[in-house]
Amino acid sequence: MPQSFTSPLSSQQVKSAALSAGFAVCGIAPAGLLSAERAGQRETMLRRGFHAGMDYLERNEEKRLDPRLLIPGARTVISVAWPYPPRPAQGAPIAAYAFGRDYHQVVKAALRDFAGRLGLAEPDVCRCFVDTAPIDERYWAWRAGVGFIGRSGMLIVPRLGSRFFLGEIVTVLPADTYDVPLTPDIASHRLCGVCRRCLDACPGGALTSDGLDARRCLSYLTIEHRGPLPPAASRWMHAAPGTPLFYGCDRCTEVCPYNAACPVAEAAPAEGKVPSVLAPSFLAENSGDAAFWTHLSVEDYRALFKDSAVKRAKYEGLMRNIAAFYAPADDVAAPSATADASAILGEASPAAPSVASATTDKTSAEGQDLLPR
Ligand code: SF4
Ligand code: SF4
Repeated sequence: MPQSFTSPLSSQQVKSAALSAGFAVCGIAPAGLLSAERAGQRETMLRRGFHAGMDYLERNEEKRLDPRLLIPGARTVISVAWPYPPRPAQGAPIAAYAFGRDYHQVVKAALRDFAGRLGLAEPDVCRCFVDTAPIDERYWAWRAGVGFIGRSGMLIVPRLGSRFFLGEIVTVLPADTYDVPLTPDIASHRLCGVCRRCLDACPGGALTSDGLDARRCLSYLTIEHRGPLPPAASRWMHAAPGTPLFYGCDRCTEVCPYNAACPVAEAAPAEGKVPSVLAPSFLAENSGDAAFWTHLSVEDYRALFKDSAVKRAKYEGLMRNIAAFYAPADDVAAPSATADASAILGEASPAAPSVASATTDKTSAEGQDLLPR
């Protein structure tokens, strides 16, 4: 139902429209400056070089700190989550999120549908964002009460887990009611309870007490990083626990008890919204083998990953990953994670140790027992 631009958005109508557009969760926050705590986390991340080669994270800092600079007069940030399922058992060795059509296309279309249902027009009254604008998506999802930030750094929705894409509508309209965060501060990790599974599972020790060090993270290295991989990347790709992948990394997601507690059926968006993301394809039904992947031609790559998020790595990057993934075990050097990351990136080793090696207080093989009750 179109909104009058002289009256506030009805939060009830916003949430109803979000569900109708296929989103699983929706929260509403007043637009404003990032909290001092979050701004401090960002400053630490940049100062310590945790953003690695993602230079774009150094740009547009004013907008990242204040979404009101993204659209003049912005008063409200609407945050939504679009779930995706775990990897298909027989699927290609790529991260779960990358199966199906590129989420940028799918979620952006759903966001525009959502905005249209509210009568919000781009670009004067609102703007829709999916992972491409200088906006701190996880912060706004936390601020809008969609979920909390776990020790993995992922946004976790208590009944949905962490397998979803985030999107935002920033609008000049106020809302009649705003949501409150699930945790009083963004870094408390209170809802992780005593769990440390993601820290223990991370093969490169990327999850530090100061946040994610992308230089040691396979997701960053196999998707965003240009140039050679660290010598230990092959070992990290095959480290237990978790599914070995040559594109992305699902370990901290796979081990999270919030995901184990979340049946796929519950996480799936409304019927009729799923097929474009989950359409059966070669990638979902064939894991391939070493010969197939190591001989992948650029023409095959273009056909296989047409409209896929995997194109982010480009052909050269994907073949680099595949070579590391199928490298004979004897060829894999085994330096420490810290030395390894420094060697490839030509930077001094981070001063603070990873907390991963120091946290072994897993209390149960069953994920549910690790969650606070
Ligand atoms: S995606 Fe993989 S490498 Fe990156 S933090 Fe999670 S477990 Fe570690
Ligand atoms: S694995 Fe455990 S510690 Fe990590 S985000 Fe999930 S609940 Fe939190």
